[in-house]
Amino acid sequence: MKPKTHKPKPAAARTPRLGERALQTRPTLEIYDTTLRDGAQAEDVSFSAEDKVMVARKLDDLGVQYIEGGWPGANPKDIEFFRIIKTVPLRHATVVAFGSTRKAGNRVRKDPNIQALLAAETETITLFGKSWTLHVTEALGISLAKNLEIIGDSIAYLKSKGRRLFYDAEHFFDGYKANPDYALQTLRRAVEAGAERVILCDTNGGTMPWEIRELCEVVQREFSVPLGIHAHNDSEMAVANSMVAIEAGVIQVQGTINGIGERCGNANLCSILPNLELKMKRPALGDRRLARLREVSGFVTEIANLMPNKHQPYVGDAAFAHKGGVHIHAVQKNRATYEHIIPELVGNRQRMLVSDYAGKSGLLGKVETYGIRLSKDNPQLQELLTTLKDLENQGYQFEGAEGSLELLTRKAVGRHKPSFELLGFRVIVEKRKADEPPISEATVMVKVGGAVEHTAAVGAGPVNALDHALRKALEKFYPQLNEVKLLDYKVRVLAANHGTASKVRVLIESGDHKEKWGTVGVSENIMEASWQALADGIEFKLLQDKR
Ligand SMILES: [Zn+2]
Repeated sequence: MKPKTHKPKPAAARTPRLGERALQTRPTLEIYDTTLRDGAQAEDVSFSAEDKVMVARKLDDLGVQYIEGGWPGANPKDIEFFRIIKTVPLRHATVVAFGSTRKAGNRVRKDPNIQALLAAETETITLFGKSWTLHVTEALGISLAKNLEIIGDSIAYLKSKGRRLFYDAEHFFDGYKANPDYALQTLRRAVEAGAERVILCDTNGGTMPWEIRELCEVVQREFSVPLGIHAHNDSEMAVANSMVAIEAGVIQVQGTINGIGERCGNANLCSILPNLELKMKRPALGDRRLARLREVSGFVTEIANLMPNKHQPYVGDAAFAHKGGVHIHAVQKNRATYEHIIPELVGNRQRMLVSDYAGKSGLLGKVETYGIRLSKDNPQLQELLTTLKDLENQGYQFEGAEGSLELLTRKAVGRHKPSFELLGFRVIVEKRKADEPPISEATVMVKVGGAVEHTAAVGAGPVNALDHALRKALEKFYPQLNEVKLLDYKVRVLAANHGTASKVRVLIESGDHKEKWGTVGVSENIMEASWQALADGIEFKLLQDKR
């Protein structure tokens, strides 16, 4: 007889949940922002020293641990920034100076770049050096041994001056592919010389996530020093590469706000931060600071003088905007149907777009956001829907013009009292000499209550002149109009229908210290289209102030 063996009862079969894999101790992550250094290297971006100080304050509010402020050895503006920032109290962040290892021909203590790094007087310095043989022998034209010597003595010297050192291993992944032994030797030299972090850089942005994971694991087996990741976006993998590196055990993630940076940009912290906190449950910022993300994103766009990317994940205007009728209907029942997170967690909000795709339910939802309650079978609602569809056929578009949409809605349901009435305008553009710029002048006649106001103004162009004349006429009745700024003006020529002249659509974005709003105008005449959008922009501001 066979001995009786005890067979354990099989555990009840259960479908494992995603992410259930046991996570051992997870070190605290370090968020290292390089908007002011790598981000400033983006095409079309230029920050003054004062701009940089303002951005640094915002980043500090957001709760990042490190702010890479610039490269003092390469940029005189950055020297100014480091001088000013020393006097600015920051609550969370440490400002870091960035620079390269010494030049091959210089003694380390005589190297101007190294001296500039010391002169920046930051507690921490990030030094970058070469890991790729191609760069050592071809770009620098020095021996592999010499490069190791440069890495070692540059770090050791700065360390001897009492600084903390982070080492950016430039082109590490490409370097490892070309010559793994040498790439690791460069890291070893940095660690031996005293680097406290080794940041693996995908400088050319061509590495794939699975390669990043594998190489992060290789480096972790070799070294006990904490690692960082610095990824560029040339293959549109920068965020993904940063995420897999963190999953593989890297503790420092470098990136920029909105992903701005050289060529195709850097890893976008506006995506990485919510990914870390909301998807990986790895706290990266302090208590509820993530809700400031959208504001910080908008601030950097504004300071960098770039166009906002409406479709940017998490923080873009359209990130939680619903247009299709089916989507709107479902989201009204339960937001989770078409929203992967609660938008407010990143400081964003849900938007319902009204377009000919959306039926009555979409419009009803929209109208409610204006504080107007209508029942679904109210004939005014059907009328408004018909008007909107008709206007959209004529070329109006309300997705970027919510100011005009609200005014239109209020008029349709009899809840609007106009703040002024146009009696007429005239715009003259005159060019007197071939080599002189033309002069634009506008006159406007408006009626406010019983008073008629007739004013003239000049401007940089006809629309600008019209805008000036209109405000000048109205400011004495509504002084708050002097806080309104025209932020953006866009014209699009709409394709002509059979037998009609082509029309233009003008979209204007206006703003004051609190808010921004868009308005629209459509006409065969560009001045008429501009007038409609300008007048709505002013009317909307006055409506805001009546609330
Ligand atoms: Zn970079």
